[in-house]
Amino acid sequence: MLPDLRGDFPLLARTVRNGKSLVYLDSAATSQKPLAVLEAESAFYREHNGAVARGAHLLAEEATEAFESARGDVARFVGAPAEEIVWTSGATGGINLIANGIGLASVGAGGTAAAPFRIGPGDEIVITEAEHHANLIPWQQLAARTGATLRWLPVDDSGVLRMDTLADVVGERARIVAFTHASNVTGAVTDVAAIVARAREVGALTVLDACQSVPHLPVDVTGLGVDFAVFSGHKMLGPTGVGALWGRKALLDALPPSIFGGSAIRVVTMEETTWLDAPQRFEPGTQPVAQAVGMAAAARYLADLGMDRVAAHEAHLAGILRAAVTEIPGVRLLGPAADSGAEVLGLAAVAVDGVHAHDVGQVLDDRGVTVRVGHHCAQPLHRRLGLTGSTRASAHVYTTEDDIHAFVDALAAVRSFFG
Ligand code: PLP
Repeated sequence: MLPDLRGDFPLLARTVRNGKSLVYLDSAATSQKPLAVLEAESAFYREHNGAVARGAHLLAEEATEAFESARGDVARFVGAPAEEIVWTSGATGGINLIANGIGLASVGAGGTAAAPFRIGPGDEIVITEAEHHANLIPWQQLAARTGATLRWLPVDDSGVLRMDTLADVVGERARIVAFTHASNVTGAVTDVAAIVARAREVGALTVLDACQSVPHLPVDVTGLGVDFAVFSGHKMLGPTGVGALWGRKALLDALPPSIFGGSAIRVVTMEETTWLDAPQRFEPGTQPVAQAVGMAAAARYLADLGMDRVAAHEAHLAGILRAAVTEIPGVRLLGPAADSGAEVLGLAAVAVDGVHAHDVGQVLDDRGVTVRVGHHCAQPLHRRLGLTGSTRASAHVYTTEDDIHAFVDALAAVRSFFG
């Protein structure tokens, strides 16, 4: 277990509706920020702000140094070399960058280097039925643009991935397999090794949505064997507006850029442009420099806590949370059963019999308990479970057992409230 870290997070001291103390259980949507992150970002603006990679003056040099050193910290945090980390606006931006690059390669952009990415009619893109829309819609769009077919690994009646369908769904025509490392709805952690092994057998590229895993579990992207991974700063105690895409260098160098502008180029003539190597070729325009510095501070904060300890802390809270909601009459826990032994994040999404998720959220909010309600950007998964939405409580490093008890008590009161 981690020590009580609430003192590091100024926002957690505030009161909310009805003067109640804040019980923040919406970290899977966005996390709160420690002073170390707020101060790193503010110090950058107060002391070093300048245009990155563009000037010969001291501030430009310092800003460039801060930006590149942040890249190194974030890279180290996920076990990657710095040159394989591309700054993005977040996980959504990263997935779009990959899918759009593949789309361009498929119409001939990027020359012969882009060959590994060409897809077309008869090829298959595989996702899962548990994906966040961010890892679904870009692939749907890519399939529509290229004539490739979108397939998906289904989930069972509880929302758990049907791994028994893997060999069938990831067939010989699969070219890309894009899947989440951990579901933002059920919390279930995916068997990455099994999917990577099958994808390699059929020669498909793998894209890992690590948006929910990097903030909560030790993640070594290189060791996982995937080809690309994406994650967001704001879910890992860092700022909004910044995230990272990791990719194997040879693949990054072959992937055509899909956002164009200044700074990412080698030579521009009126007729054509040649790009810098990765990662800079994917970073045109003014980048989120202060946010990158803040994201690096978040990575250092988590690394100092130790990701094994973070994962153990959240697994402990998940155990209490998932067992307790299972005991409440009329409450259905989505995903692996509390006693299944499955690896899950520190969260629980539930459906309350006869009560709309938004009404559940309102009762909780009146008690200062802050959760996410709705489909959590996973409509197909909810539809498969016969739901339009659910109520999700999710933990982070600052979450305490008292927070979990406050949620469980409030949830238990919901059905009596609505009769
Ligand atoms: N993937 C998963 C699993 C998520 O939970 C989220 C955010 O909720 C995203 C992708 C998108 O992240 P962002 O909005 O930071 O781009």
